[in-house]
Amino acid sequence: MSTAQSFEFQAETRRLMELVIHSVYSQKEVFLRELISNASDAIDKRRFLALTDKNIIPEEDNHIRIEIDKATRRLTISDTGIGMSREEVIQNIGTIARSGTRELLEKLKNSKESFDLIGQFGVGFYSAFMVADKVTLITRRADEKEGKATRWVSTGEGTYTIEDDTRPTPGTTIILDLKPADKENGLPDFCDEFEIEMLVKKYSDFIAYPIRMKKTVHKTVGEGKNAKTEETVEDVTLNSMKPLWTRSKNEIKDEDYNEFYKHIAHDWEDPLKVIHYRAEGRIEYTALLYIPRRAPFDLYFSSFKGGLQLYVKKVMVAERAEELLPRYLRFVRGVVESADLPLNISRELLQQDRHISAIRKGLTSKILAALSELLEKDREGYSKFYREFGPALKEGSATDFENKEKIASLLLFASSFDKEKTTTLGEYVGRMKPDQKYIYYLTGDSRSALDSSPHT
Ligand code: ADP
Repeated sequence: MSTAQSFEFQAETRRLMELVIHSVYSQKEVFLRELISNASDAIDKRRFLALTDKNIIPEEDNHIRIEIDKATRRLTISDTGIGMSREEVIQNIGTIARSGTRELLEKLKNSKESFDLIGQFGVGFYSAFMVADKVTLITRRADEKEGKATRWVSTGEGTYTIEDDTRPTPGTTIILDLKPADKENGLPDFCDEFEIEMLVKKYSDFIAYPIRMKKTVHKTVGEGKNAKTEETVEDVTLNSMKPLWTRSKNEIKDEDYNEFYKHIAHDWEDPLKVIHYRAEGRIEYTALLYIPRRAPFDLYFSSFKGGLQLYVKKVMVAERAEELLPRYLRFVRGVVESADLPLNISRELLQQDRHISAIRKGLTSKILAALSELLEKDREGYSKFYREFGPALKEGSATDFENKEKIASLLLFASSFDKEKTTTLGEYVGRMKPDQKYIYYLTGDSRSALDSSPHT
């Protein structure tokens, strides 16, 4: 084995980790959701890459395993996913590539308030440092035939080490050297089987692959005076694995919808609105869509990637199919499943396929209808939505010719009628005097600047 090489985290990553480590965020338990979510994404990725890439070693028994070692206070989470090459570890775990990250992090002065923003940013893997003093990652890419793996170790203090290692099968193992349990400070004992089982049920029940753990089971054998308790260790699956969107709406609780959203959107906040429906007829599909509460900080960067997860017959065929939505609705997150598409759908096909354009049309009108309903029934909620996503909708009124009118009715404007509240075009027209012929408007940087304009 080679000797370990030491690296410094990129400045942005270091700052993010500092915030995570020193945060007083109370729900530290969400680290487990984040790591399981990454593991599940990695398995999805291996499955769909294997559809087109012969170098990817296929896996029959995809699963996630949790191991607890009470004596050493170690918690291990392994997956049979895509794994990472050495370069990918440095890229994915050592750096954050999103535009605008530095600006966002500069805004965050200290931990408490900033954590909302961090959550929305998606701390993901780094959340492990909320509960562990040391994190070790051993990973082997699914096209690595000789068993070569990479070991990454960090105590979260600005540096990490990397060295060559081996791993019998492709995938990733993450070992957490847990901090001492400290219930008052949001650190229950994550070495407790029952605690882990409860957390998996709470946050990760819908994960499509079995989450396995060896569990101590107490059984009573014999009867009456001869009855005694026997202790055995059983390998159990902790989650029900049922993809949420395939379940019927009336058996899904709000919490289920919310946790699934956090998994797919890498958001830490509940969504603003859920849209779940099945389309039947000429083209059949199921959609589970979410409108987030807050716009990602990079939504208006051209590098922002939107898109929905696309499934064909329970297999994910695209992680972020941008073709499923018009660009202006890139803030919508979710899943679409259809049996009417081929399993090995390519990028080109996604762009040209008639089914895809029919689905895009359907999704667009459902989303616009949901927004219209929100505007009608919950003005305050809608105004919040609009503060975050209004500019994106405006893009739509200029680019989506077919839905121009609908989108126009969803726009909000400041008006001279009410200094505090915004108005829709419909409301404005409703207030017009019978002989009013024109609508005058002004554009500018701020309300106060326009109020003092000589034109007003
Ligand atoms: P996110 O998941 O939001 O992209 P993370 O910080 O959680 O951000 O993870 C960063 C990247 O590291 C992921 O995008 C992925 O490429 C890689 N990664 C994390 N965990 C795993 C894993 N278990 N298997 C393979 N790759 C992983």
